[in-house]
Amino acid sequence: MNLPKEYISYSQIRLYQTCPKKYYYTYFQEIKPPITDKIFLGTLFHSTVEYYLKEKISGKEPGKEDLLKRFEEQFQEWQKKQEITWDKPASETLKRGLAFLRYFLREIAPEINPLMVEKELVVDLPDLDVKLKGIIDLVETDFSITDFKTTTAKWSKTRIRESYLQMQIYRYIFEKSFGDVITHLRFRIIYAKGISGIKDQKVSIKASDLETPKMLDIIRYVVDSIRGGAFYKNENYTCSYCEFRDLCRKETK
Ligand code: SF4
Repeated sequence: MNLPKEYISYSQIRLYQTCPKKYYYTYFQEIKPPITDKIFLGTLFHSTVEYYLKEKISGKEPGKEDLLKRFEEQFQEWQKKQEITWDKPASETLKRGLAFLRYFLREIAPEINPLMVEKELVVDLPDLDVKLKGIIDLVETDFSITDFKTTTAKWSKTRIRESYLQMQIYRYIFEKSFGDVITHLRFRIIYAKGISGIKDQKVSIKASDLETPKMLDIIRYVVDSIRGGAFYKNENYTCSYCEFRDLCRKETK
């Protein structure tokens, strides 16, 4: 069978690795279950940071109060457009988002020199007859790449290791597009359980942690499995909070 999109991406690969059945529901059946409040907040935070950094590049850096107001307005507007599963009340989630944004503006934004923001890059993988696509959060003037995350807790060593593939893909598509110019690869993780005690973790990924042949092997495995129609259930403890669990339980195979 054909791939559901004209390209393969890190998010597709990660979803397939998590559970092929979940990948099938998402990309082939295009089922859109309610999103969690954490995903909602992360998407809105990314969109606000993207807006802020693009304005900064064009010399029109927005003020703090304007940006917080924009965030709040979009929060109200966006929540009407999609179904969200609220773990905490919406008002608390909004306060948490505003606190994250204040932290970003105070502790992180002043040291950023943006060159490209939300840069979409697509390269051919001729051996696999597929395109590889990535959207890079931030490239700075020193050619460092940063990916922002919002979460509830500091990343563990295991979580950091799991992230190598994402950075490997970003490095690969960037270097195929612009040459061997990257100076740093890092994740910037902003985390807190509530609205206070916000911290951030800077995770630098060394080039020696990344292996292109291994990355290509993983992509080949996922692409071949999708083309071969391998959409088995990967049942494990994560099923209890999978958004497709009711549908999945009804299916016998
Ligand atoms: S409930 Fe489990 S097996 Fe079913 S789609 Fe979700 S993660 Fe996969």
